[in-house]
Amino acid sequence: MRDERSHGARRPDYDEFEASELFCPKCRQAQPVRRRLLLVLPSGNKYDYLCTRCGSSVGEKVDDDTDAFSVLRPK
Ligand SMILES: [Zn+2]
Repeated sequence: MRDERSHGARRPDYDEFEASELFCPKCRQAQPVRRRLLLVLPSGNKYDYLCTRCGSSVGEKVDDDTDAFSVLRPK
């Protein structure tokens, strides 16, 4: 019985990594996702969730955090 994985060592190269998993239609199973900031809106930030395995977008989310937007606004 072998316990090795053929993938080898995986290094986390992402700055933003969430442990949560989402179902990826391309991989046909739940995969760990990487969150990417897509848009900064007055109403909040829009995030894109990418499958860490194939890179497909598997979801998006808008939060209510307007701090980032106010930082970007010229005074
Ligand atoms: Zn995938």
